Amino acid sequence: MEIPPGTELVALLGDPVAHSLSPRMHAAAFAALGLRWAYVALRVLPSDLPEAVRGLRALGFVGANVTVPHKEAAAELMDRLDEVARACGAVNTIVFGEGRRALGYNTDVAGVRRTLRYGNVKVSGLRAAVLGAGGAARAVCVALAQEGASEVALFARRVERAEFLAGSMSTLFPHVRFEVHPLQQDALRRGLQEATLLVNATPIGMHPDTGQSPIPSEEVLHDRMGVLDLVYNPSRTRLLRMAERTGARTLSGLWVLAFQGAVSFELWTGRPAPVEVMLRAIDAPRLPEERP
Ligand code: NAP
Repeated sequence: MEIPPGTELVALLGDPVAHSLSPRMHAAAFAALGLRWAYVALRVLPSDLPEAVRGLRALGFVGANVTVPHKEAAAELMDRLDEVARACGAVNTIVFGEGRRALGYNTDVAGVRRTLRYGNVKVSGLRAAVLGAGGAARAVCVALAQEGASEVALFARRVERAEFLAGSMSTLFPHVRFEVHPLQQDALRRGLQEATLLVNATPIGMHPDTGQSPIPSEEVLHDRMGVLDLVYNPSRTRLLRMAERTGARTLSGLWVLAFQGAVSFELWTGRPAPVEVMLRAIDAPRLPEERP
């Protein structure tokens, strides 16, 4: 493959990166707009991250995506963080701009917000539930607060981690009520009754453990809710199959991947992202009303 001089470069920094769908998705987007740009996935060890970011800047990269396990560490390395990245304490997108300064963004938040709108799930003034209390759960909480949720119930195996997350979110978003519960059947049954949205922000159900679900039984779900699984490998997780059986609206983690990628693409290129091309490139499920 030839990468001619003058090609604009974007990197993905993570570990592992071998199975990432982002190179395929961004290559399709660059091609659709006729841009001479390339996106390269680079495996970086945590101890090498500061040098890797400095190296990208020195080599003239336009920017980068940052993925597991570097999102929090990358935030510490930026010259400036935008407001959302600061709220998340994590960066998934770097732009080398404003005199080649490292500007940090978190497009996972916009990815979740656009996914909710795409899937036609409204949370404004309503109650939502989040499973997990890690980095993705934090981005989901920020997205829900920005979408106007009035209550967010966090369910976690380590309740103290969820309490810490709820505390910092309550400070940032005092108009939202954050609750903490153990990730257990009884608490889920009570906590989900009035929820219009359930988001899985744990890795449970991800390949190779595809038989697992973060909820013990589908009795806790109902047909008035949307269920978003951030896990996208496989794209139809056990949780989403349980949700389908209860008549709940399902939202794919591949949509979040495509929409966060679209926002990153727009930050790097300054052009509207070809979202349909990006969704197709990663075989994201179509909306129910578009299915034949
Ligand atoms: P993380 O920071 O490691 O947090 C994972 C959370 O899940 C923690 O609260 C952890 O609990 C909990 N957890 C893990 N295994 C569990 C288990 N067996 N039972 C109960 N709880 C468990 O990871 P993350 O960055 O938030 O990512 C979470 C998932 O979201 C990953 O699968 C990631 O690929 C996915 N994600 C997808 C997208 C997308 O574009 N679709 C974007 C971001 C993230 P403990 O604290 O007790 O360990």
